[in-house]
Amino acid sequence: MNNSIAGDFTCQPFRRPAEGYISSGYGPRNGGFHFGIDIANHGTSVPVYAAFAGVVSRSQSMGGYGEAITIKHREDTVETLYAHLSRRLVSPGEVVSPGQLIGYTGTTGDSTGIHLHFEVHEPSWNSSRSNAKNPLPLISDETTSPICWDGLMMNKGQIGRITILKPINLWRRDATNKLELERILNQGEVYRVYSYDELYGGQYGLGGRLYVTKMDGYIKYETPGQKRLDELKRIYP
Ligand SMILES: [Zn+2]
Repeated sequence: MNNSIAGDFTCQPFRRPAEGYISSGYGPRNGGFHFGIDIANHGTSVPVYAAFAGVVSRSQSMGGYGEAITIKHREDTVETLYAHLSRRLVSPGEVVSPGQLIGYTGTTGDSTGIHLHFEVHEPSWNSSRSNAKNPLPLISDETTSPICWDGLMMNKGQIGRITILKPINLWRRDATNKLELERILNQGEVYRVYSYDELYGGQYGLGGRLYVTKMDGYIKYETPGQKRLDELKRIYP
């Protein structure tokens, strides 16, 4: 179990991939399944932007998708797809930033009008689209946005975080609260904290019965401020 919080995707800067309205959502549609969302803009062609930073993995004609682009993000843990484009402005291997112009909406491939078809896959796209995820939760103005703290997503029940300053033991408490060494945590690692109690001179709970002892000079504990904690409780009652 890796409690390191360095790998969160949802708090990366996100750019809505096109201006417009959601003309069709993710889910069952016409006896089939719609593996993405459609963003339309009253039949006009509009710019298409990279949703996150990444590396272009495809820029080509892709059957029913028409002219399409795929981009890999976060060390190949997520891939986004932009379909039915009228123009493609990037090539495979190109590094893009969030919000970078990559093309224009169109109606190429199996499409009945000008719109962007946008898909999110974890970790990557395949032709059966078995890794598809609903992109809507990533579009912050469409649903409850995650609580981000210094660019990292906060989890339900989190009260703070610790940064490891010097190597220190990660303990697991057994059923009788006896400590067993889980592993050594290394300098620079960051972990979410869910609790604090006075056992063993004071320990921070990292979830899953894992604890780190409060030791000056070995860890730095920080909290995000009451506003974020209140918001977290509102989202995860
Ligand atoms: Zn679509």
